[in-house]
Amino acid sequence: MVKKQFAVIGLGRFGSSVCRELYKLGHQVLAIDSKEEKVNEMTRHSTHSAIANGTDEKALLSLGIRNFDYVVVAIGDDIQSSILCTLLLKEFGVENVWVKAQNYYHQRVLEKIGADRIVHPEQDMGIRIAQHLTSEKIVDYIELSADYSIVELIATNKVANKSLINLDIRAKYGCTILGIKRGEDINIAPTPTDHIEQGDILIVIGHKNDLKRFEEEGM
Ligand code: ATP
Repeated sequence: MVKKQFAVIGLGRFGSSVCRELYKLGHQVLAIDSKEEKVNEMTRHSTHSAIANGTDEKALLSLGIRNFDYVVVAIGDDIQSSILCTLLLKEFGVENVWVKAQNYYHQRVLEKIGADRIVHPEQDMGIRIAQHLTSEKIVDYIELSADYSIVELIATNKVANKSLINLDIRAKYGCTILGIKRGEDINIAPTPTDHIEQGDILIVIGHKNDLKRFEEEGM
């Protein structure tokens, strides 16, 4: 496997979690912040770290930022710096620039200047928490677009001891079972004859309306 190179600019709560997790997963991560104490906190959780301003063109170039496959811009409140930093990275030709947006206007500008992925951690987490709160069957929820999502649902006795072919979920509800988790095991290519047990976690993809119908009527 070719190792990807990651850099994270801005080591607040969001940036530092991204950095730690990438490092934990065994990737090369360069951690950058303009504040020395933030960089010091991250030295143990990154392969390299540097004190630099994300809007300083020369500093970024001297860190070799052009050679990174992914750069995460996690500069929070200072929207102007976040925009300028993103602009520089795209001008340098960095292929994947992921940026944390503070609000809708910030997002619109980021889209215009070519940010490859814009994330809203607070909003996204809020949606996920609300989904957990409203249904005891939903374990996790990932929004793919305005209409489509992936949900993880706990199998109730309504579907237990039945095979996928018997349940015929795709025909009845228009949803597809992508995988079945049972304890530590995960079946990522379920076949029609695979059985579901009570307490299994079903990973299901579909239109939000279909998923809701399946969760309410089928489970
Ligand atoms: P979080 O919610 O992730 O904690 P936040 O939204 O509160 O973040 P800030 O604390 O404003 O975000 O910024 C995140 C980090 O980005 C801080 O550690 C800050 O020092 C750093 N930062 C801000 N501006 C720059 C910049 N121009 N260059 C590099 N780092 C920066």
